[in-house]
Amino acid sequence: MAKKVLIVDDQFGIRVLLQEVLLQEGYQVFQAANGPTALEIVKQESPDLILLDMKIPGMDGLEILRNLRKMGAESKVIMMTAYGELDLIQEAMEMGALAHFTKPFDIDELRQAVNAHLMWPEG
Ligand SMILES: [Mg+2]
Repeated sequence: MAKKVLIVDDQFGIRVLLQEVLLQEGYQVFQAANGPTALEIVKQESPDLILLDMKIPGMDGLEILRNLRKMGAESKVIMMTAYGELDLIQEAMEMGALAHFTKPFDIDELRQAVNAHLMWPEG
């Protein structure tokens, strides 16, 4: 059964790019442009991993992460940040984020990190 990855980013272009790459890897991919949608998908689908943008209008990445923890979600989380967001990254790591990628990131490195954290493809 394919592992599930949720992409949370307010930028359409980034969601589309990541979705294309992750579908090629064989993942089941979900996407959300904002916090409330992301939390709803987490409730319904329990994704194995979440790629979480830090800067999102309304509920930002940290707030989403905080809500995920409150819900007891067990999804692994990789943050996507902008340059210079060290304090925010630190806070995200304290809430259990496994890694962070600074935009603009190398899509191949991100792909490899997702695969490594999900131990995918299997075998
Ligand atoms: Mg953003």
